[in-house]
Amino acid sequence: MPLVTSKRLLQRALEEHFAIGAFNANNMEMVQAIVEAAEEERSPVILQVSQGAIKYAGLEYAAEMVKIAARLAQVPVVLHLDHGTDFNQNVLCLRAGFTSLMYDGSSKPFEENVAVSRKIVEIAHACGIPVEAELGKVAGTEDHITVSQLDALMTDPDEAKTFVELTGCDSLAVAVGSVHRMLTREARLDFERISRIRQRVELPLVLHGASGVPDEGVREAVARGICKINIATELNKAFTRGCAQAMQAMPDEVDPRKFLGKGKQAVKEAVREKIRLFGSAGKA
Ligand SMILES: [Zn+2]
Repeated sequence: MPLVTSKRLLQRALEEHFAIGAFNANNMEMVQAIVEAAEEERSPVILQVSQGAIKYAGLEYAAEMVKIAARLAQVPVVLHLDHGTDFNQNVLCLRAGFTSLMYDGSSKPFEENVAVSRKIVEIAHACGIPVEAELGKVAGTEDHITVSQLDALMTDPDEAKTFVELTGCDSLAVAVGSVHRMLTREARLDFERISRIRQRVELPLVLHGASGVPDEGVREAVARGICKINIATELNKAFTRGCAQAMQAMPDEVDPRKFLGKGKQAVKEAVREKIRLFGSAGKA
């Protein structure tokens, strides 16, 4: 089926208390793995193109791979821009057929974040495309951040309410204790903060850096109003592990598809686990 927008999917997730996985699509095998898992689980799915994927494959390749997968799929597929850097990149993605945008102005002053988010919302809504914005900063492991620094970056619930009113965004990425690119699953979420944001903001909330959050934490976050969960690092780990194991098992093999296929299989199983954890299985 053709691509769908994230608007109605996330609204339904909000009403029925589940979350939709937003999986990073870095290469063809991963795109196929994500969509196959979603089809087998009868789940709607968001495939997102990161800044890294744009650098690696180019915007056109990254977008078209997801479009082909969506066209052949029996479940709703969204093509989402992850951490859009500025106004221009969002315009390019809108033009390239993305059905969900993101602007990440979380490292900018509040007023600038509002102004750019607002501008992107205006042009995107003119085309019927929803926009995710970010308030509070989800750090990365490379930032080597301390616990007190992490606290200071978290989303302020009152500020979130004002931000949403001023920007008109459709969903909000919040900083509530998770960290991007975590290889272990030890992140401790501030559940109270999620609830306080949720009380003030009527929109679907988005959790980034979820690869580092243990399963119980994810369940609790969903129960408190998280509707979209980004998973990138865990899929990269699965893919690399799958390929590496295959190379070890077949040291004389020269056909790369033998290795990539194993990587794909590992990603598919990782996605399936997440879909079940998020409660979106059977919701397509
Ligand atoms: Zn993120």
